Amino acid sequence: MAMTRAFITGATGQDGTYLTRHLHDQGYEVHGLVRPGDKPPMEPELITVHAGDLMDRPAMTAMLDKIRPSQIYNLGGVSSVALCWTEPVLAAEVNGTAAVFLMEAAWKLQEKIGEQVAFVQASSAEIFGEADTSPQDESTSIRPMNPYGASKALAHLSAGVYRARGLHASSLILYNHESPLRPPSFVTRKITQGAAAIAKGEATELRLGNLEARRDWGWAPDYVAAMVLAATHPESDDYVIGTGEAHSVRDFVAAAFIAAGIGDWETYVVQDPEFYRPADPTKALANASKAHRVLGWEPTVGFDDLVGRMVTADLHA
Ligand code: GDP
Repeated sequence: MAMTRAFITGATGQDGTYLTRHLHDQGYEVHGLVRPGDKPPMEPELITVHAGDLMDRPAMTAMLDKIRPSQIYNLGGVSSVALCWTEPVLAAEVNGTAAVFLMEAAWKLQEKIGEQVAFVQASSAEIFGEADTSPQDESTSIRPMNPYGASKALAHLSAGVYRARGLHASSLILYNHESPLRPPSFVTRKITQGAAAIAKGEATELRLGNLEARRDWGWAPDYVAAMVLAATHPESDDYVIGTGEAHSVRDFVAAAFIAAGIGDWETYVVQDPEFYRPADPTKALANASKAHRVLGWEPTVGFDDLVGRMVTADLHA
């Protein structure tokens, strides 16, 4: 039997790397979009790389026509809330418009070849902004409060539009998901790298922004597993994916320093206005019961374990 072909945008990022491994382990033929100039895949033997830019529409159409994937995972885009504040138009184009174009291209491909093309959009808890209910689920009002959330909301809503049009399009509203592959522009990795560097005597302080911000942090490989469950489920739909447990940045710092063997983290952490956000959701908390009920999805790694894994990786780096 021919292998199932999957196409991943953002293939060399944290999620793309774990998704490549997961799909490969399940016997897929994996293809990935990589922007020229991006770092190559971590495990190049698992994936066929296609150089290109999500915003280059003719190139994307030609690529899909050549690969003819039966599953498309849209993970590409500007992934940092902080960067989207400085590049809001780019965020709208890459996270929003390019996602719409990809869904249109997937739908046209499906029409042309007469076979289902399943589309998975990596959406974000940021589409809820400062939610009026906690925890949030699929029925929570979409009211983003930053350019990142607004760009992701366009793609999320478009998945619903294309689903109604006949595309197997699922949008996964992903809460923060972390791993040793997280870039240090995200607070978790910044903290685990910082704590490890202090433990090794390579740094003397760690400068952070708002320590009271709370997030629902999970283990990234669990989140890519949810994407595959959504793509292969008979019906496409929207799913909230998160652990259902929130912690503050302060909790993360304390846990990371303890994991690095340092008890008095307050001595090393400096609060710096440079790292505060103009607006920052405070109540992000997932109710993933629909994903559990319909997809059989469950997070496998809890908070302390997640922090411990990241610190251990950084201590050995
Ligand atoms: P996000 O939820 O996608 O924005 O993920 P981040 O890891 O970038 O930020 C998570 C939370 O940590 C936000 O509420 C930030 O305001 C807060 N935070 C506090 N200090 C820092 C910092 O130094 N860097 C980053 N990136 N976030 C910080």
